[in-house]
Amino acid sequence: MSKKVRVRFAPSPTGPLHIGGVRTALFNYLFAKKHNGDFVLRIEDTDQNRYVEGAEDYIVKSLNWCGIPFDEGPGKNEKFGPYRQSERKHLYKQYADQLIAEGKAYYAFDTSEELDAHRKQHEAEGKTFIYNWHNREKGRLVNSLVLSEEETQAKIDAGDDYVVRFKSPQDETLQLKDIIRGDISIDTNILDDKILFKSDGMPTYHLANIVDDHLMEITHVIRGEEWLPSLALHKLLYDAFGWEAPEFAHLPLILKPTGKGKLSKRDGDKLGFPVFPLAWTDPKTNEVSRGYKEDGYFAEAVVNFLAFLGWNPGTEQEIFSLEQLVSDFDLARVNKAGARFDPDKTKWFNHHYMQQQLDLELATEFQAKNILLKDIDVNYIALVVGLIKERATFVSDFWELSHFFFVSPTDYDEKASKKALKEGTDEILNKVIELVNSTEDFTVENLQTNIKGWITDNDIGFGKVMMPLRLALVGALQGPDVFDIMYMIGKAETAKRIEALVKTI
Ligand code: GLU
Repeated sequence: MSKKVRVRFAPSPTGPLHIGGVRTALFNYLFAKKHNGDFVLRIEDTDQNRYVEGAEDYIVKSLNWCGIPFDEGPGKNEKFGPYRQSERKHLYKQYADQLIAEGKAYYAFDTSEELDAHRKQHEAEGKTFIYNWHNREKGRLVNSLVLSEEETQAKIDAGDDYVVRFKSPQDETLQLKDIIRGDISIDTNILDDKILFKSDGMPTYHLANIVDDHLMEITHVIRGEEWLPSLALHKLLYDAFGWEAPEFAHLPLILKPTGKGKLSKRDGDKLGFPVFPLAWTDPKTNEVSRGYKEDGYFAEAVVNFLAFLGWNPGTEQEIFSLEQLVSDFDLARVNKAGARFDPDKTKWFNHHYMQQQLDLELATEFQAKNILLKDIDVNYIALVVGLIKERATFVSDFWELSHFFFVSPTDYDEKASKKALKEGTDEILNKVIELVNSTEDFTVENLQTNIKGWITDNDIGFGKVMMPLRLALVGALQGPDVFDIMYMIGKAETAKRIEALVKTI
């Protein structure tokens, strides 16, 4: 590769970015970084009807949260700017004009009612209406290929609405190349003459996209599979302009957990997982959609699971930091087949990354989310977190796993009580209180030596002591090591909790 690699992520700001869009951005980022290239963000906002307030900001925040910021884009390093197509409006008309002048595109004046009528008539005859070589010059359609130059100009001067259509070739076979899909051949007779430009002065997606990729010196177009049907037209446009086309890679769809059909927001709502990186409030309806960040996912976990939606390293390794992904990523290892989304796997990744976080950081977050922890020393909370995080997937699991480090049990689990409280338990627990009180240096080791020593010396079953002891401390038969709990809550609180249980027997 001689030219500097330049890729772009080109979302339309029509709402929150779906995780499929984030995956596309991630693969662009990985490819760019791997080849020491540039990752460009371009906002494709030519369709003003679909513009949604706040969407661009959301896109930028999402990329930043994932740790995959763009090198160039709106407001940043604007050497090929502007990067919003609405601000590049003045650029596109000359390219449409150029194609018309060269006979590669033409004006069409057909109204939508007229086109509808053609469509209906074709349907009635069992045919499909395609605006292209087989009818564009037959005189039934109103365009500059049938009208004289003067008639065409008169219509434009009169302010008639028009579109500029691309004149797609007849009887040719296009040979296309996709890095992921290999060779594709397309019969040009099935292509319709796509609209490139409208008389309101706005280009369509196709023209703006090609012109901008060219002007921004994009070398590789990496985008979702839904754009594969546009590839033929895009290649024809590059050829028509005499420009060198970039290389293309169309990423596989992300499928529902069942593997059937494209993953949608509805699947997430139904099965209880987010499909957006960040929470989003619809500016019109105020409806809130959940996001991975707010649901307690770590950005590293999201990046890791997204990388595996369509790509794999070809080894058993599943845990990849962003840096490792940059070094191992290869478009040649991206699958053609759709990638099934697995919500359990996303949790598995989060659990893994939870273990990598600093206890103090987790503790700070835990404290911020729990009013009951407001006045507790964050270093104590960090020690608790260290004891329980192995069982947690989210910070929101912490309270359930650790409340007994902060407050004494208010009741005892019924089943657990049945199992733990037997004849003689009160005597045993009274003895344990004595042992607790007589342990001068209240450390885990000393507690273990004293209590376990007493159990073995007197040949009492371990369960007979440890079960009621745990019940007294936790209120249930769960939680981390009993000696760790005693040490953490301290001598007085330990004795108090055991006494409280004895009183209920
Ligand atoms: N604006 C298109 C989108 O919303 C870009 C497609 C492309 O990357 O060419 O996905």
